[in-house]
Amino acid sequence: MQADFVLLPGDGIGPEIVFQAKRVLTTVAAAFGHEFRMTEHLMGGCAIDACGNPLPDETLEACRRSHAVLLGAVGGPKWDDPRAKTRPEAGLLRIRRELGLFANLRPTKTWDELLDASPLRREIVQGTDILFVRELTGGIYFGDSGRRPHASGEEAWNVMTYSTGEIERVVRLAAQAARGRRGRLTMVDKANVLEASRLWRQVSESVVKNEFPDLQYNVVLVDAMAMHLISKPRDFDVVVTENLFGDILTDEASMLPGSLGLAPSASIGSGGPGLFEPIHGSAPDIAGQNVANPLATILAAAMMLRYSLQLEQEAQAIEAAVNKVLAAGGRTRDICGGGEYLSTTEMGDRVVQALA
Ligand code: ATP
Ligand code: MG
Repeated sequence: MQADFVLLPGDGIGPEIVFQAKRVLTTVAAAFGHEFRMTEHLMGGCAIDACGNPLPDETLEACRRSHAVLLGAVGGPKWDDPRAKTRPEAGLLRIRRELGLFANLRPTKTWDELLDASPLRREIVQGTDILFVRELTGGIYFGDSGRRPHASGEEAWNVMTYSTGEIERVVRLAAQAARGRRGRLTMVDKANVLEASRLWRQVSESVVKNEFPDLQYNVVLVDAMAMHLISKPRDFDVVVTENLFGDILTDEASMLPGSLGLAPSASIGSGGPGLFEPIHGSAPDIAGQNVANPLATILAAAMMLRYSLQLEQEAQAIEAAVNKVLAAGGRTRDICGGGEYLSTTEMGDRVVQALA
């Protein structure tokens, strides 16, 4: 099959890690007989430097025309001046909105070889494999907000709003993902207090009952979920929730494996190109040193094949290659625990060799 991918290397370690993911994609294409056309475009701080805009029109147009977008990371101290007219992160928010990416997918999985890095005991985290599906374009972050005078000074408010349609589409997407996994879906809300949560509960129950009766479905209150993630993370398969709860829970969950360098994420919408990236930032402290861990970006490329092109076998081949490299003791500096470590380039070499 033929596919067009846009690569947005971005800032900091972005170019180094995206380059390794590109090599991996080229290897997969050759192995499975696909043609992946990959073009690079500017986004983030480098785009501000080049043309004063973190998401130039030309980049956005290229993304729209593509099958999917692979992003490294954007931002860094150079562009952190609060008086600046625009910031690298503004490009990220805009691209999500422009591409209609309403669902953020974050797999959280522990690696048997790296369990010592987890802050939790081995017997609690071993075997954890959760897919979080966070609603990304609605809720309290996008609701009405403001301030007004108050007897004690001021009063401020933010409104959480969700419509039936907004809930249906993201629950459906999560339910479909659950079908391709272990068939379990957990919906997290705060329906004992919030009206918006009561609508979430009503709508998600009806979507599951009518369209996905084969799934094992349950609901958990968000406060309880915060505890369960630490006490019994293995109990969950796919977890779907609204924007604010998802923001907090996915950050909590990202600590379970004990390493940021291995976690990918995907933002997808209704059929158009999705955006795939590592969850870590641009790591300016180690940029340009060839020590960054490229595995999160390589695993984001695997998600890109799975969720944008339904190339499940190819995605699994990449994941298996990463597993194999880790099992053979391949480590970058961030996960070496003081032992010997590979450079960014050497880690890319190992994954490419494991694939071949
Ligand atoms: P954000 O940009 O999302 O606000 P941040 O600036 O807080 O995130 P990161 O840029 O992710 O954080 O970096 C946090 C720490 O993790 C840094 O010390 C960085 O060097 C390290 N780090 C992040 N990503 C990687 C990676 N891929 N390989 C090795 N170390 C990494
Ligand atoms: Mg950063």
